[in-house]
Parts: sequence; C-alpha cells; structure tokens
Amino acid sequence: MTKHEEKTVEPRVAAIGDTSRLSPELRRAFDPAGDYEPMPDPGPSDWLANHPEKPQSYADWLNKDTNVPGPQRRIIYLLPIGEFPPSAPSLPALTKIVHAFFTLEVKVLPAVAVKDVPAKTRINPSTKKRQLLAPDVLRWLTKRVPDDAFALQAVTMEDLYPEPSWNFVFGMASLSERVGVQSFARQDPAFFGDAREAGWQNVALRRATWTMVHEISHMFGLTHCVYWKCVVAGSNHQAEADSRPLHPCPVCLRKLHAAIGFDPAAREEELAKVLRDVGIDDEAAWSEHRATWIRTGQPSENSKP
Ligand SMILES: [Zn+2]
Ligand SMILES: [Zn+2]
Repeated sequence: MTKHEEKTVEPRVAAIGDTSRLSPELRRAFDPAGDYEPMPDPGPSDWLANHPEKPQSYADWLNKDTNVPGPQRRIIYLLPIGEFPPSAPSLPALTKIVHAFFTLEVKVLPAVAVKDVPAKTRINPSTKKRQLLAPDVLRWLTKRVPDDAFALQAVTMEDLYPEPSWNFVFGMASLSERVGVQSFARQDPAFFGDAREAGWQNVALRRATWTMVHEISHMFGLTHCVYWKCVVAGSNHQAEADSRPLHPCPVCLRKLHAAIGFDPAAREEELAKVLRDVGIDDEAAWSEHRATWIRTGQPSENSKP
C-alpha cells in the first residue's frame, strides 16, 4: 500500500486495524465486504447529536485494561428482578441468543423480588409509572456477581432511569464491574397505552435482544460504536434502536473475538440457527450469508439479506 492510499482509508475501516497477518478466514470475518452500513449522520434527537462519543478503535480497545473471560470466569448470568407476565420476551429464547452471540455458557439465576433491590424509585412524570434508578441496581449487582461469572445481566419489567434529568433508559451497564440491567417495560405497546398489534411479541423480543447484547458487550470494555450501524452503537430512542442491526460491526466483532476467542464462521452459523428458531429471520439470513462469506470468500446465493 502506498502512502497516498494509506491516507484515504476511511476512519471506520482504519479502526478495524491491520488484518494482513491473520488467516484468510479471520481476514474475511473482519472485512466489511459490503455487509455493513456506515453510521449515518445523526438527526437532532439521535444519540450522537446529544452524546458525542470518543471513538474506540480496535487498537484503542487493546490498549485498555479490559475484562476478558478467563477459564474460571466465563459464564454469563441473567438475573430476573420481579415478576414477568407470560407475554414478556422469553428468557429461554434470550438465553439461547446470548449464548450464540457470545459463545459463552448462559445461566438464569433465581428471580429476586423488586422490594429486595435497594434502588431509589420515582414516578415518571410523563408515564405516571414507577421507575428504578439504574445505577443503584448496578451497585447492588456488583455484590452479587457469582465467582464463575464473566457477566451478570439483570432483567426486569420495571422501567428504569439513569439519573433524575433523564426520562428513561432501556438498559445500563458498567464497563469495569461486569454488571448490567435492562428493562422490558417499554417493549410492550401496552406500556404506552397503545394497541398490541399482530407480531408485537416478535418486535419485543428483538428489542430485548438488542438491549441485552448491547449491555453485555459493554462488559467487555466496548464503548459505544461510532463507526457503523452496529449493535454496540448508542441509541437515544426506540426508532433509532430499531434502525440498528442486532450484529456487531467488524470493529466491535474484532474486540469480542480477541476477548473470547471464537470461530467467527461457526458463531454466525449457530447464531443463524437460533435466530431462525426464535423468528428473527432477517438477522438469521444475514448471519447465514456472513458465515458463507467468511468460510468461502463467496457471497451465498440464497441467503443474501
Ligand atoms: Zn450503551
Ligand atoms: Zn461497532
């Protein structure tokens, strides 16, 4: 590569880092190859217009002292807080998705009652519904991380807020303490008094998946992605979250790969199966297509999303 060409590499491609010494499969795994959309310029209410983020390239992440799973500490635990109606996003489905996404064992802990979680609450002025202060929940979670846990992600039907000046938050995680919490409350149209249209539970599962893999990715020291439309990018509102895919971009995938050490093609194949199984078909097709590309360097005939 000449000096001139080096200068014209897009920052989002440069952030992936040098892959020239990797195996052909790994090189393809981190090659965007037309399968990822660049992060669009934010609209006025979008995340990046309101929360400017310091970009974190793969090299930046490597230089940080981050938590990675070790032989004694590699289980992802999900902790239900409070009761869940039968219509809530399915924990068994989320368990399978998170297992396929991170390739780590996932276990669900016995549920804890909301009253046993020492978190400040308030009544949200616009919804008139109770909310828990998420940082209080995170602080409580740090004392409950099992010895063999890499990560502890709490899930609840209670609505959450991150600080008094904010309206709500879908979820929140600590980048250093390996804990996170997310709410399913806003994934039910009934929360807003709206009608539950056909297929709403599938949408709710997709949204719960987005928040769950997003928060758990933070626990590997990944900060919000600014490079591509990516599951690790920040999101200010539901429409913005819905416009994002459920998969990580090549920059974020490379960080997770370095932290966990999976086979990227096998990971996409397993993820595709699980996503088909739970009815998230567009992402399943994307993973099938991507697995074929990583294995063969040829785009697949049928599964192009
Ligand atoms: Zn986040
Ligand atoms: Zn990313």
